[in-house]
Amino acid sequence: MVTPTVSESEAASLLAELISYDTQNPPGREAACSEFIVEWLTDAGIDAELVYEPFEDRPQVIATIGSRAPGADHLVLNGHIDVVPPGDREQWSVDPFEGVVSDGKVYGRGASDMKSGIAAAMLAGRWAEAAGIDGTLTLTFAVGEETAEPGTKTLVEDLDADAGIVLEPTELEVHTVGKGLAWYVATIDGEPAHASRPHVGNNAVDGLFAADTEITNYRETIAERTHPLIGESLCTPTMVEGGTKENVLAERVELRFDRRFLPAESIEEIDVEMDRLFDPVREQGFDVSVERTRTYEAAEIPTDAPIAEMVREHSAAVAAAPTEPAGKEAATDQRNLVNDAGIPAIIWGPGTPEQSHTFDEYARVDLLVDAVEILAKTIEERC
Ligand SMILES: [Zn+2]
Repeated sequence: MVTPTVSESEAASLLAELISYDTQNPPGREAACSEFIVEWLTDAGIDAELVYEPFEDRPQVIATIGSRAPGADHLVLNGHIDVVPPGDREQWSVDPFEGVVSDGKVYGRGASDMKSGIAAAMLAGRWAEAAGIDGTLTLTFAVGEETAEPGTKTLVEDLDADAGIVLEPTELEVHTVGKGLAWYVATIDGEPAHASRPHVGNNAVDGLFAADTEITNYRETIAERTHPLIGESLCTPTMVEGGTKENVLAERVELRFDRRFLPAESIEEIDVEMDRLFDPVREQGFDVSVERTRTYEAAEIPTDAPIAEMVREHSAAVAAAPTEPAGKEAATDQRNLVNDAGIPAIIWGPGTPEQSHTFDEYARVDLLVDAVEILAKTIEERC
């Protein structure tokens, strides 16, 4: 087999086309882009279909290339079609949903996170279909990643695959571990009273400051939990809402916080810690309830897992990418492959991580072209 080269102009125009579909989530407008991907793959001779689960009106994509023989080597490539909203359009110097190609870069929402990853997988899939492979290659392009919906989970949980690549932006550096994320809301209930007679009530604002002190102490404790590739556990208060009126002791305050955790920490144990954390606030007469509102679990595979070694080697050879062990501080769908489907998977892709969720987001076309070549070499060796 000869490894392919895709031209920069073809790679850039495919990425621009993917960006031109406004797939912002919320609300989750992936359908037209999913249809385009299936059509493109079908034109390339690939068996591709829309999957109307878990949402009837938000189809996602699965495509299969190769033998499908039981026991054959089976590699899964995974990407998410949704993007975060563009935010204030005035801050963009280009239309975030046009796909402007300029100076070796493609600009637009999702360029790096992660439509360049999807473009790389589509082009590598087309190559594999044309070259013919003995094993199996499955492409999974999911909805709902940006809001922790079960898109990827639905696509991969029944796959009998033995390696996976989640195409989040890493500039072709292999990451074997991803941090987990949980959001919590603590509701602090006090006793309202007229502000002229504050001793009669119990001010939920005081409860809020007491709660914040507990979070600060907790943060110092969990900072001792560290991972060599993704650093320490974190807990950060991020949103506050509450109070009734200027002259009323606050009846209720809601405090939201963001908890980043390591693979060694279980979410059930963290829930217990979160609840106990506010016992000192309860002792001051406040009712405090704690609820977890969103979860992305952490995931990890060994740094020397075969898929990691293989992609690291090809990335170094093709693009001089760094080969040191690395991890991602943000949460990804790697957890669905590793934790839910038992597929050893790395996080690796052509996007630039610092570009994720920014104004004037872009992806580098040279890295996209390199990614196609690295994927093709990996498919050739693996399947
Ligand atoms: Zn992403």
